[in-house]
Amino acid sequence: MQSVETSTMPHYQQNQILISDMQSIVESDVQSNIPIVSASVQNSFFDPIDRQVKLQQSNIHLFRQQLCEFFSQHLDQKLVYQAKTDDRCCYYFLKARSMSVDKAVKMFKEALLYRESHDLDNILLKPFQLFDQLSRTSNQGYHKFDRYGRPVYIELVGLHNVNEMEKECTVDERIHYHLLKMEYQQQILLQEASVRFGRSIGQVVLIMDMTGIRRSIATKYFFNFVTSVMKLNTLLDPESLAHVFLINAPSFFKILYAMVSNLLDSQTRNKIHIHKDSAIQELTKYIKIDDLPIFLGGKCRCNPNESDSRKSCLRYSPQSKQLNDIVSKANAT
Ligand SMILES: [Zn+2]
Repeated sequence: MQSVETSTMPHYQQNQILISDMQSIVESDVQSNIPIVSASVQNSFFDPIDRQVKLQQSNIHLFRQQLCEFFSQHLDQKLVYQAKTDDRCCYYFLKARSMSVDKAVKMFKEALLYRESHDLDNILLKPFQLFDQLSRTSNQGYHKFDRYGRPVYIELVGLHNVNEMEKECTVDERIHYHLLKMEYQQQILLQEASVRFGRSIGQVVLIMDMTGIRRSIATKYFFNFVTSVMKLNTLLDPESLAHVFLINAPSFFKILYAMVSNLLDSQTRNKIHIHKDSAIQELTKYIKIDDLPIFLGGKCRCNPNESDSRKSCLRYSPQSKQLNDIVSKANAT
């Protein structure tokens, strides 16, 4: 453990420093039911990003050097630490700007300013009383890991009732809920995945089930929310999505997708796989069938006592329970 105060540092650097601490947390985590993967299994999955990070070392070095210089001259020492982010994070910002060091530095500064102005480093420590209600009605959640050790996030978009969503909270409150989950992903879940699978893991897999989706979802409220989320994801966590599976997509969905897809860069668009059916064969290439919920064609039922298979996995997965515990603790203070 290094001597730097981790509580003042963002997730980028915490990821490096807390790795030894996380090992003991994971080893004692008897409730997660997720086995720590053996070295032979770890090595059987080749992660092409590791190779890209190595190939881009000179750009990463320049990127980090410019950040350190900028923050040394303009801001306080705490922010200099933030410029010492890990190689993989540097690579993601560079890749998001086609390996232009100047543009990537500009983007990183914008991301840091947004983080500072919204105090994202501490968002998990602050009360958010709407959390429980939104978790019950939002039909989404983190659910275990894929074969490569990446966290899986599932959203049942077709079950969204936009009229109810609009009555429930404002767009800003829903964005706060999204940011809170993003920070959980960055500060805790990806660290845990890195320790569990023995390598740096910085991406997640997203499954969006369109079953039941109606044209009426295309309201101004929903459009504003989705576009804000896309912009924030791109700014704060570039390259954080390994794959996006849009399954059971009706034909009219292509029109909806066209409305928002121009907000995505071409690299992100290439990661989006749209399927008219459940795509179980495709999904099981990435996720073990035992780790896929029953409602997606898998075998997992996280809580055998919960008769609703959706709730069983989205509300009671080890990751959903962990996030719920964190926010409950913050709400109790
Ligand atoms: Zn499950």
